[in-house]
Amino acid sequence: MEQYPARVLRHVFILYKDNQLQLADVFFDDRIKEIRPVSDRVIDLKDIQSPQNWKIFKQQMKTKPGPIPAGEIDGECMLLIPGAIDAHVHFNTPGYEDREDFEHGSLAAAAGGVTMVMDMPCTSVPPVDSVHHLERKREALRKRSLVDHAFWGGISGQMFSDPRNLEQTVDKLSDAGVVGFKSYFLSGMPDFSDLTVQQMQQAAMLVKKCGKMLAVHAEDKKLVLERQKKFQQQQKNDWQAYWFSRDIQAERTAITNLVKICQKTGCRIHIVHISSAAGVELVRQAKSQGLPMSAETCPHYLHFTKSDFENPAICNYLKTAPPVKDHDDKEALWSGLSDGTLSFVTTDHAGCDPAKEKTSDNFWEVYGGIPGVEHRVAFLFSEGLKKGQLTLQQTVSLLAENPAQFFAVSAQKGFLKAGFDADFALINLWTEQKISADLMHSKGKYTPFEGQLFTAAVNETYLRGNCVYTQGQRKVEFGYGQWIKPN
Ligand SMILES: [Zn+2]
Repeated sequence: MEQYPARVLRHVFILYKDNQLQLADVFFDDRIKEIRPVSDRVIDLKDIQSPQNWKIFKQQMKTKPGPIPAGEIDGECMLLIPGAIDAHVHFNTPGYEDREDFEHGSLAAAAGGVTMVMDMPCTSVPPVDSVHHLERKREALRKRSLVDHAFWGGISGQMFSDPRNLEQTVDKLSDAGVVGFKSYFLSGMPDFSDLTVQQMQQAAMLVKKCGKMLAVHAEDKKLVLERQKKFQQQQKNDWQAYWFSRDIQAERTAITNLVKICQKTGCRIHIVHISSAAGVELVRQAKSQGLPMSAETCPHYLHFTKSDFENPAICNYLKTAPPVKDHDDKEALWSGLSDGTLSFVTTDHAGCDPAKEKTSDNFWEVYGGIPGVEHRVAFLFSEGLKKGQLTLQQTVSLLAENPAQFFAVSAQKGFLKAGFDADFALINLWTEQKISADLMHSKGKYTPFEGQLFTAAVNETYLRGNCVYTQGQRKVEFGYGQWIKPN
């Protein structure tokens, strides 16, 4: 057999297909050289899912006692997956860095098995609404990211004041290597205002021309603001008022408008953080008609429902836009993941200092956003795979393969294959961890998952062949992460 001057990760489980595993040794330098099965034996996950059976299996595999040779790492029969990709984070550099920044965000990503993030354009100051501002972001990021990153461009309402310039800007940002463009039907951000339905259609035409996709925050502005105004006039400042102002109808109306825009323009349209059964059904129908529509959801929509706002310990932490919905919506989102209607799971990672922005009695004033980048991988294995909502193949696809293909970075990312970047995460499916703000790495330390028990954990994360994070420790310098452009 061929020998490599590479490092070897010995005895890791890799996905064979569906819910089947195979034990393998992985040879790599900065790229994967070879994945060599230890034997032809294919193992069903259910036969090894109990920690007891796993321990017995591990003991059978211990063929070579004594110390491990230099350059070899004992994978301990844990599960190796391709480095996870989070296609929707707000790391805020440069900008609202009192809430989150790239050091903290990318460290949290690495701790959570994530080797690449796609950063949103709207929470930087200035927002990424021109090539000049994209360059400012790149400059601000120098020596600050632990993980690889790509950038979304943005199309804000402000940009429509100069329509000719808008067209050029979209073209130039596309050429400069953004993965797509983000717009809002309803934005709370003064520097990045929302678009009317007509403007959204114009934006879609421009984005279609440069072959990228338009990602949209889909809540109907008129419906939400009318109700918000009414509730505020009545001094209704509780979570219920917020929740009712941003109900399913607001999401349904916005997505219905986007389906029409997709029909008219042929532009790829992606719904970010979809939250309702009605939304999933609209995307399913559009896809069945051959329209280039897609959508993502996030762990909070898959786990919590409206009734969780009644828990005062997490009520303010759970605030997002759109808010989590009802039990049936949650179930529809899981179905949407398993039948392929939803393309991947992101976190919409958006943190703040909870002592400053999560304590108000007035729910309208509470900052909306959850810093979730480090919990998503463990969440999906614990609550998706191990609770039977997803197969192992689906879980891996949703975390890594699908986003890599979707954003055209799959020439080097998203797959455990020879020639690909040696990005991977070692997952322990035979452990338990209690989620706690104290253990978080993001700048703002709070989570609605506080106290929840996940039955999976990320043990180690590798990026381009180097361990970047293991067992509570960062292993490379900030700045190791690189900017990745679409193929
Ligand atoms: Zn977002």
